[in-house]
Amino acid sequence: MYYITLSWDDGFSRSVAKIAEIYERYGLRAEFNVVVTFHEHDPQTFGGFELWNELQARGHIIQPHGYDHSNLAEMPLAQAQANILRCLEVFRQSLDGFDARRTVFNFPYNVSTPELDAWLPQVVRAFRLSGEMIMPLPTRHTVRLTSPASEDAEAMLDRCLEALFARPEGWLLYTAHGLDGEGWGPLRSTYLEGLLERLLPRADVRILPTQAVLETAML
Ligand SMILES: [Zn+2]
Repeated sequence: MYYITLSWDDGFSRSVAKIAEIYERYGLRAEFNVVVTFHEHDPQTFGGFELWNELQARGHIIQPHGYDHSNLAEMPLAQAQANILRCLEVFRQSLDGFDARRTVFNFPYNVSTPELDAWLPQVVRAFRLSGEMIMPLPTRHTVRLTSPASEDAEAMLDRCLEALFARPEGWLLYTAHGLDGEGWGPLRSTYLEGLLERLLPRADVRILPTQAVLETAML
């Protein structure tokens, strides 16, 4: 089986609305990784918890992508831990039914440290950072999720899919941002629709949010 997750970062409200609409048209659930303070600094560009709760109620997954998008690998461990806990506390207060032990923490810039990697499984289900392009299928013990990303997103995603399908099975967790010119390394709506139309008929492919892929782990 091949699992494919597009993990949409930063919470650009215009892109998020389009992505949710496209996914719903194909009967899929999207995954949005949002930053706590972006909305208060720029409410025109970024969604807030009102939107995140609405999207969650429509079946999409909302996950933490940092309190303020600080690079957590470039600060002392205790400060990085406090930053993550503050982020999770706002999620607990603001996102309906949020349970940190079921969520995936998506590192800003996909960068972590060995110390944070060792600590995070005590507070969240798993965490996402850069590393191997393709992961093996998850087990119940999988906590460290590696994810490619590129400014040249469509070419990179095509290369990732080629690498995935060259294997007998695996999981591609791709870090995306916005659509149609918004955010770092945007995809075009037409590319996304074409991708889903190409992949959805395949019986050996499942397009799922990260949490749903983790829930398939039997061993
Ligand atoms: Zn980001």
